[in-house]
Amino acid sequence: MHEDLFELDVDVQVVSGAYMHWQMVNMYQAVQNVVVRIRSKNSTSEAALLMNSHFDSKPGSPGAGDDGTMVVILLETLRVLATTRQTFTHPIVFLFNGAEENPLQASHGFVTQHEWAKNCKAVINLDSAGSGGRELLFQSGPNHSWLMKIYRNTAKRSFATTFAEEIFQSGIIPSDSDFRIFKNFGHIPGLDIAHFKNGYVYHTKFDRIDVIPRGTLQRTGDNILALARAFSNSTELKDPE
Ligand SMILES: [Zn+2]
Repeated sequence: MHEDLFELDVDVQVVSGAYMHWQMVNMYQAVQNVVVRIRSKNSTSEAALLMNSHFDSKPGSPGAGDDGTMVVILLETLRVLATTRQTFTHPIVFLFNGAEENPLQASHGFVTQHEWAKNCKAVINLDSAGSGGRELLFQSGPNHSWLMKIYRNTAKRSFATTFAEEIFQSGIIPSDSDFRIFKNFGHIPGLDIAHFKNGYVYHTKFDRIDVIPRGTLQRTGDNILALARAFSNSTELKDPE
């Protein structure tokens, strides 16, 4: 890391709490988040970009796609940011959350209790419902059209469709993502992005690293790094309203 340019804070949050998930009381005790904040030393910004992935997996599944792929992409994004002599305006908070499958407990613990959460003004959520392929931007907002404007102008290989958003938000897919927790409990708008190809392996013992093409990591990584830089340099992040 370029220590003359950047400051890195690492925190392991152990958190307990409760919330209503659909019709279920979802209580959790001592779930863990690994949280890393990178800040340019010349920055005085109070606003931050949040980037989330989860390192837990469905019991019995190796979880290479869900969500190991996105975890390594975020780690690599962090490495590139910290080792390139290119500063950015707003700090970036990397959340490696440890209880997504339970469901969505660790993101709730972060957004309601972590001291850095209140500074997060937008979120990029990275998850998977398959393994490999190209990542799909399937939810954005709510409102905040500047999010999509940045995505359109930034992502090298953009891939988004409102059709996916309509299907997902109709509830016919029995699935949910941390995006909803950030939105409902943190009032943080953002982008929800996931791999979906080869969905047959999702949440099974076949979600293995050997079925994920290396090109997927490069493709998604290029997009995510570009988005991280664009959001962290955007004027909108300072005051999204
Ligand atoms: Zn997941």
